[in-house]
Amino acid sequence: MKPYDVIVIGGGPAGLAAAVSANDSGAAVCLIERENRLGGILKQCIHDGFGLLRFGARLTGPEYAQRYINEVRARDIDVFTETFVTKTESDGGGFVIHAVNRSGVTVLSANALVLATGCRERTAKQVFIHGTRPAGVFTAGTAQHFTNLMGLQPANNCVILGSGDIGLIMARRLTLEGAKVLGVYEAKPTPSGLTRNLHQCLYDYGIPLYLSKTVTRVFGEDRVTGVEISAVDDAMRPVPGTEEYVACDTLILSVGLIPENEIAEALGVKLDDRTKGPVCDGQFMTNVDGVFSCGNALHVNDLVDYVSENAAIAGKNAANYKKAPRKLLELQADASLLYLVPQTLDLNRDNSKTTLFFRSKEPLDGASLKIYADGNEVLGKRYAFLRPPEMETLTLDFERFGLTENSRVTFKIVPKAQEG
Ligand SMILES: Cc1cc2nc3c(=O)[nH]c(=O)nc-3n(C[C@H](O)[C@H](O)[C@H](O)COP(=O)(O)OP(=O)(O)OC[C@H]3O[C@@H](n4cnc5c(N)ncnc54)[C@H](O)[C@@H]3O)c2cc1C
Repeated sequence: MKPYDVIVIGGGPAGLAAAVSANDSGAAVCLIERENRLGGILKQCIHDGFGLLRFGARLTGPEYAQRYINEVRARDIDVFTETFVTKTESDGGGFVIHAVNRSGVTVLSANALVLATGCRERTAKQVFIHGTRPAGVFTAGTAQHFTNLMGLQPANNCVILGSGDIGLIMARRLTLEGAKVLGVYEAKPTPSGLTRNLHQCLYDYGIPLYLSKTVTRVFGEDRVTGVEISAVDDAMRPVPGTEEYVACDTLILSVGLIPENEIAEALGVKLDDRTKGPVCDGQFMTNVDGVFSCGNALHVNDLVDYVSENAAIAGKNAANYKKAPRKLLELQADASLLYLVPQTLDLNRDNSKTTLFFRSKEPLDGASLKIYADGNEVLGKRYAFLRPPEMETLTLDFERFGLTENSRVTFKIVPKAQEG
């Protein structure tokens, strides 16, 4: 059993960036990926727009991933592909990993783990659509996989449920492949995807977006023949009497992503109800000493550039990890925030330069993020606008706030109209 300093699980953009940064920090690193190629979900994202922040370049998903794959290959990092991590255990201060591949079961050990297992898509079952279960109901990611990696055409006439980014991107992609996208239906009163994707993927192609509407029933025996659309009320409940039938052969679901954290949970990692990813500190270390999380496994990021950023931090901290007492302070995110990451600070380690990620609960034109320590405002940052689909990031030096374990630190978003 070869001992590593750091084992990174997941070879998507998060795992690649974490492995590179851990190796650059002097660690012996092993990277494990269940698929036969590195790159994660980016392999199937063949449109451009990736890397504007990180590289100042407009790259496709595979091009973005390749830059990091090249960095991994240029270093002394052991890479296992087609290797699925089935079990992780704590073992005398370190960790033992059981993974399955063509050679059988491989057992590896490490001082620290980085969990970079990405996220998965919500399915029809999770959004409670009634009716039959014919062929032709796909998640947007599955439709993207069929179209971009397998060269198959999954739809001729389709309805897209949910205005998340993958659904918007697939609306354009399927249109370019000759399919008719009859409409994107969103249950919320505001779109879920990035503004740039609404323009570039829907409006530029004349694809209609219907807000406060959802799919309530699927029709068809062997293949989808149509769907029932209903208006929804403020609580997102279908309104009786508003049903309309739309004939189509495909229903594509873009109804949200959930961080993939079975391995984390098995290790006793605590998950956050809001992000569905691990609760972590400013090092991106979870409540389990030596277990770090990053990328979409930690929280669903809007841009891959941020995935690489937080993964590089996690990788570096995993490389430098030595068991030492933590002095944890919980950060309180007011209900005006959809979420805040990290959720805690380790006052023994996170005193300088802590990178935070947050989203506003509501779309706001003009607002401030305010941070209060024991009721006193210690920081106010103005934003021209805040939108729930667009994640915000800031780096803070908490040392200047003079915090102790007993401090109460609250984050709140205050709309411009309510500011004094
Ligand atoms: C279906 C889908 C489509 C997307 N399309 C777009 C898009 O068009 N544009 C955009 O900007 N963003 C898109 N995203 C977001 C994009 O995925 C992220 O920005 C980025 O890929 C997240 O990186 P990651 O490394 O955290 O996760 P991923 O890219 O998902 O990588 C996680 C990796 O971990 C591996 N893994 C998981 N569990 C195990 C295990 N037990 N053992 C070994 N390996 C494991 C997986 O195989 C995968 O390769 C999409 C996301 C999804 C889910």
